[in-house]
Amino acid sequence: MSAEREAAIAYARLGLPIFPLHPIIDDRCGCHDSKCKAIGKHPIPTGWQNSIVSVPAAESCWRSGLGARGIGLVCGPKAGIFGVDADRRHGADATLQDWKRRGRRIETVTDASGDGWHFLYRWPKSFEVEIRAQDLGGGLQVRGAAHFLVLAPSLHHSGKRYQWIRSPFDQEVAEAPSWLLELIAAKSHRTPIVADGEQQLVKIGERYHALVRFLGLLRSMGFGEKALVGFTDVFLDTSVEVDDDPDHKIDRDHAHAAARDIARRYLPYRTKQKAPLVVRGAVPAPGGSVSSFPFQSVRAVFPHTAYR
Ligand SMILES: [Zn+2]
Repeated sequence: MSAEREAAIAYARLGLPIFPLHPIIDDRCGCHDSKCKAIGKHPIPTGWQNSIVSVPAAESCWRSGLGARGIGLVCGPKAGIFGVDADRRHGADATLQDWKRRGRRIETVTDASGDGWHFLYRWPKSFEVEIRAQDLGGGLQVRGAAHFLVLAPSLHHSGKRYQWIRSPFDQEVAEAPSWLLELIAAKSHRTPIVADGEQQLVKIGERYHALVRFLGLLRSMGFGEKALVGFTDVFLDTSVEVDDDPDHKIDRDHAHAAARDIARRYLPYRTKQKAPLVVRGAVPAPGGSVSSFPFQSVRAVFPHTAYR
């Protein structure tokens, strides 16, 4: 029996809301559309949200001869699950470290994808906000209604397999902690960290996330380690949190480590996220050095942070 088939049947037995994905065949999507961009993430049923398979259906959907079909997990209120997708390419390591430091525990069923992790939570029984695709900042995204996740041992397009860090056979999908739900609620109205100075906000207690996210953007524009560490210093020297909560104080060594980590871990590739970086003409030239970075623009970038 293939690993996918064995797992799919076991998930269906556990009551996890799963459905089949097209297999990856010779580095292409099994849907046979050579232009398909959803390789390894292409649902077979068009109405996948309502195609949750039973145990007999799993036995049939993953029978041999159909290729190594991946396993999708429906997220949403009906499925009773949502996920948090942590992308290491966008700073998830630093964010998760920061959460840990603040005592924000995230232990739940977790699988590892090619570039990060998926944390699974039970859909809250009562919550005033629709859990959809909130961007929690620092490389973390919510996967809620109208989304799905790919489960181990499905094949990722990178050639790696998704694998369990904490499997649903060893522990239950946890209730979402209240601080996470509060964070989702706070992020439900998108407030870009960088805009034209009118409506942007760095909310109280989110200065560190804003810093990390901005360091990631600088990196994507071609700035190196020295520039990122230099920016961090200017930011710490000139900006202050508006409240006295010791939890909101940013440790300088920790921030330097995060800046170096971002510079070393990520290639200085250019992203599509450049648009929100238009800050009153303060956009540094790609490949610029620490000396060419207009540090005076820090205030323009974080206008709602208090400065000395
Ligand atoms: Zn496809």
